Amino acid sequence: MSRTQTYSALILRSRPSGESNREIWMLTAEAGVFRVTVFGGPKSRLRSHAAPFHSGQVWIYHEPVKDSRKLNDFDVRSWRPGLRELYERTITADAVAETILASHGGGGNWGEALTLAEAVLDTMEQADGELCGRLLVYFLWRWAAFQGIQPDLEACVSCGASVPDGPLWYSPGEGGMLCAGCAGSGEPSGFNGDLASRAGLFQASPGCRRWLAAAAPLAPSALDRYTMDHKSLGEAKALTAAILTGSFGKRLKSWDIL
Ligand SMILES: [Zn+2]
Repeated sequence: MSRTQTYSALILRSRPSGESNREIWMLTAEAGVFRVTVFGGPKSRLRSHAAPFHSGQVWIYHEPVKDSRKLNDFDVRSWRPGLRELYERTITADAVAETILASHGGGGNWGEALTLAEAVLDTMEQADGELCGRLLVYFLWRWAAFQGIQPDLEACVSCGASVPDGPLWYSPGEGGMLCAGCAGSGEPSGFNGDLASRAGLFQASPGCRRWLAAAAPLAPSALDRYTMDHKSLGEAKALTAAILTGSFGKRLKSWDIL
């Protein structure tokens, strides 16, 4: 059996390794996330190809005894230079990459995950700072679906009540949305209409929930024209980060741009 295999891959992260090599992390359509060594000094062609957010076909040699992997060749199809032209794009793309890397192989549908990540980065290449924020919220929401933890935005997870017009509150403990009655039931004074400030709950008003539900089936390129008011965006950022924080067991620093 050949130990060199080809994959469709997106480079997520690159770090120095030893004197002149690099360690890179990539998302592949066929087998999820790999860490791979790139041999060669700073002038090597392969090393300049194997940089974050480049994607294409990679040839990887797998050494089974040490279970180590080495990059043999890389046919880069998308370079995405635009991601380095604006600071907001760079840090948002990093947040996408770190989210994928924090996912511990969850999900499983790697082909779809790669398609989503690539489409988000392609749109981000032309995005201004504001669109970058919406793209990250969109990505985190879709990523929550891959992880199987996207909550139902229409109904209370505790009592089942459907709440089309009022706010719901995301409870990390319940892993779902709560109606006002259920969200307030643990309060000493009951629901007083101001649960937004209650520790540990994340309010999602109808505007925020409608945006997330309607954006999920859209292509990222359509988000340019699909805007959201300031309050809804703030809620959507806090909500999506809270959902994934529960799954990863930690809040990622790279989301602090949210
Ligand atoms: Zn309820």
